[in-house]
Amino acid sequence: DSFQDIEMGEIIMSNIALTRYTRPTPVQKYAIPIIKNKRDLMACAQTGSGKTAAFLLPVLSQIYNEGPGEALAAQKSGGQDNGKYGRRKQYPLALVLAPTRELALQIYEEARKFAYRSRVRPCVVYGGADIGQQIRDLERGCHLLVATPGRLVDMMERGKIGLDYCNYLVLDEADRMLDMGFEPQIRRIVEQDTMPPKGIRQTMMFSATFPKEIQILARDFLEEYIFLAV
Ligand code: AMP
Repeated sequence: DSFQDIEMGEIIMSNIALTRYTRPTPVQKYAIPIIKNKRDLMACAQTGSGKTAAFLLPVLSQIYNEGPGEALAAQKSGGQDNGKYGRRKQYPLALVLAPTRELALQIYEEARKFAYRSRVRPCVVYGGADIGQQIRDLERGCHLLVATPGRLVDMMERGKIGLDYCNYLVLDEADRMLDMGFEPQIRRIVEQDTMPPKGIRQTMMFSATFPKEIQILARDFLEEYIFLAV
């Protein structure tokens, strides 16, 4: 029962050591191997269960292994794609959708810890805050994007974010996102033409509850998924 049992590469292991997490929580113990095996996942887990690290660790581990080469090339060629505020359109390799600014910031802070001393740069965008500043931060490079759905749609409409290379998609607290009325924005993001389709991208959904509406989202967004309840 240690993180050593879930081999995730040197940078990740040393960053886990820095966070002083000594042993994986149950959701981490079961979800990390499933995600590392490249399976889609529907996980029922509460806040406080350690679910954030359960998806960030294996997703970052896979991004490190693959190297951000393809996306970096895309980011360079995006130079011509000028929007209202600036130069570069960003093509994140991984996207985490979250219902609120508070949760998005928490996920982002955890991602920064695990991405420390790596080439992977996490960013966060959320509503109710200055969009110009968020755009300037994105333009410094974005490999893993944490976003609330409405602000992400806004960023996509401004030509600041392309999801063409987004091979990892996480919906965190999916039930809360639906309760808050984000389903149209979520569908707009996930079902757009440029997003890699299910079966190509890897998709992970986390939700405290598993009502009919979440089952439908899981059916629509996930490919032969594993169901995990902790
Ligand atoms: P979460 O459910 O992801 O919001 O995590 C709840 C809290 O548990 C956060 O403050 C994490 O920093 C902490 N945490 C997550 N995983 C571990 C772990 N393996 N050991 C100790 N603390 C953890």
